[in-house]
Amino acid sequence: MDAERLKQRDSDDVAPENQNAMSTGRRKEEVVRYGISAAPGIVIGTAFVVDSAVLSVPRTRISQDRVEEEVKRFKEALNVTRGELHQIKSDLADQMGEDHAKILDAHMLILDDVMVTDNTESLIRSEGFSAAWALNVVISKIVSSLNTIGDEYLKDRSADILDVKTRVLRKLLGLESEKIQNPNAPSIIVAHELSPSETAQFDRKLVLGYATDLGGRTSHTAILARSQGVAAVVGLEDARPLIQTGDTVILDGNCGTIVINPLETTLQKYKVEIERWKKFEEQLLTLTGYPAETLDHRKIDLVANIDLPEEVDSALSYGAEGIGLFRTEYFFIAQHQLPTEEEQYKVYSTIVEKMQGKPVTIRVLDIGGDKIAGYLHSSPELNPFMGWRGIRFLLTRKDIFKTQLRAIYRASAHGKVKIMFPLIVDIEEVVQAKLICEEIKDDLAKGRYRIDPDVEIGIMIETPSAVALASSLAKEVDFFSIGTNDLIQYTMAVDRGNTKISYLYQPLHPSIIRFLKMTVDSAKKNEIPTAICGEMCVDPLSAVVLVGLEIDEFSCSPNMMPEVKKVIRSVTFDECKTLVKRIMKYQTTEKIEKHVTTFLKERCPDLSLFAEVK
Ligand code: PEP
Ligand code: MG
Repeated sequence: MDAERLKQRDSDDVAPENQNAMSTGRRKEEVVRYGISAAPGIVIGTAFVVDSAVLSVPRTRISQDRVEEEVKRFKEALNVTRGELHQIKSDLADQMGEDHAKILDAHMLILDDVMVTDNTESLIRSEGFSAAWALNVVISKIVSSLNTIGDEYLKDRSADILDVKTRVLRKLLGLESEKIQNPNAPSIIVAHELSPSETAQFDRKLVLGYATDLGGRTSHTAILARSQGVAAVVGLEDARPLIQTGDTVILDGNCGTIVINPLETTLQKYKVEIERWKKFEEQLLTLTGYPAETLDHRKIDLVANIDLPEEVDSALSYGAEGIGLFRTEYFFIAQHQLPTEEEQYKVYSTIVEKMQGKPVTIRVLDIGGDKIAGYLHSSPELNPFMGWRGIRFLLTRKDIFKTQLRAIYRASAHGKVKIMFPLIVDIEEVVQAKLICEEIKDDLAKGRYRIDPDVEIGIMIETPSAVALASSLAKEVDFFSIGTNDLIQYTMAVDRGNTKISYLYQPLHPSIIRFLKMTVDSAKKNEIPTAICGEMCVDPLSAVVLVGLEIDEFSCSPNMMPEVKKVIRSVTFDECKTLVKRIMKYQTTEKIEKHVTTFLKERCPDLSLFAEVK
């Protein structure tokens, strides 16, 4: 259940039994807060509140003759911070492995970013500001411009920048480095905000869960929590001031909820839910070695979406039959500068090798829209989702496109690679992109590089235009992958990140089901397979519709794979096809959802979706 739906319930009503208790002063009130589920799991524990001290930076000026000395002091502070981050990175590598420690690379790059270093130095020189004040001014400007873009990913990156700022300021202001205090017994860590470096300093054995006021699904703290297997709720907004160390807290990472000082009755309900969840998870994991196959043996390829290269390990541990979507843009954004062909080749070939012959679909850079790299987008667009993104960006920045294709083709020598083009609206885009692929293959052959000459080329079907042209597009490519995240956005004219109109974001809207059917029919006629790599396929209600629509491959986040597999293994292909025929006749989402819910509840009653916890 998503946090938005939960928010619609009364958020902080005091339960009647508690109101009574409060008036007699016997116990604290039970309070419920709703945020974003960042990592799954449900825990009950004692809160351990972590507060980062707020630094006050004086607005001081220095005399002209001390300017160079101040610049030197600034550079030294950067160096010491770099050393400190290296140390945290190596501790993190010991705890969690090299791949996870790379999260700290983004922090280190901020220390070298000319926007930070040059601008601070020039403020010291031109205005005579102290290094601390100059840095404060420069970082505040960068962070506020990132926040005005209104993009969750960039907001999360501003948290990294502020974390680095605090570290450097502590050096400049002569303050000790703040060491994170660990709780002395396993606890739920509560904070207004946790930086990745702070998160990394906790002793894993003492952390039951994380609850923070700030942060989003893509914040590094959320990524760390997921990879640590620790339940987490972020984006709670104002929960921290309500909690004191020692309070009992229930943290539900599945629903994105926390309950502070729960009543005995609430505790009992959650204890039952924890048991149910444990059993459900154990049962799901027993499916890892089994295929995603319906009861009447329709086999669906269940593959993984990965956003960062290191997620390939998780994909393998959940039994992914391949990578259905590697979103290369996050790795580009994390670099803070264009990765070279060699750097890209290393990343792609490592993933391909780890997958040992299983297919790896590498989507060429889908930068733009909500995924902005500061070094590639100098001025913000008025309408970024309709703007310079996906294949449009690549066909105007052929230098970037060709470098990426060279790296991908070279990686194809190490296993089975597929290439996918994002945001196609026109046949000509596909024709041009394919010609560039041919040119790169020829170049690599002349350079005597070993490549797979038969790398399959596919496209994302994520615009209404691509659906309308699907029968022609199918003649140009080897596969379709439907990106419902964008397809729903463009079809329903609803910004996929705007919570005010999120009620319109309806995967089971009659228009979406018709578009999916048109796409699959065109693909079938031209004998190419259709995958889905949008979030829609992890929603159990949608999953059975997608089975009935004859989608060949489902691609989703690794940790969502067991539940999707369970749904697929609980139904027959025949009954899903009948279900689709039936719902194609309905004109409203409400009617469709009602019909599918009744169907699925009968086949799969123990899904979390149907759990009546609270
Ligand atoms: C999609 O649009 O469904 C998709 C998978 O791509 P992204 O979420 O990266 O836009
Ligand atoms: Mg998309």
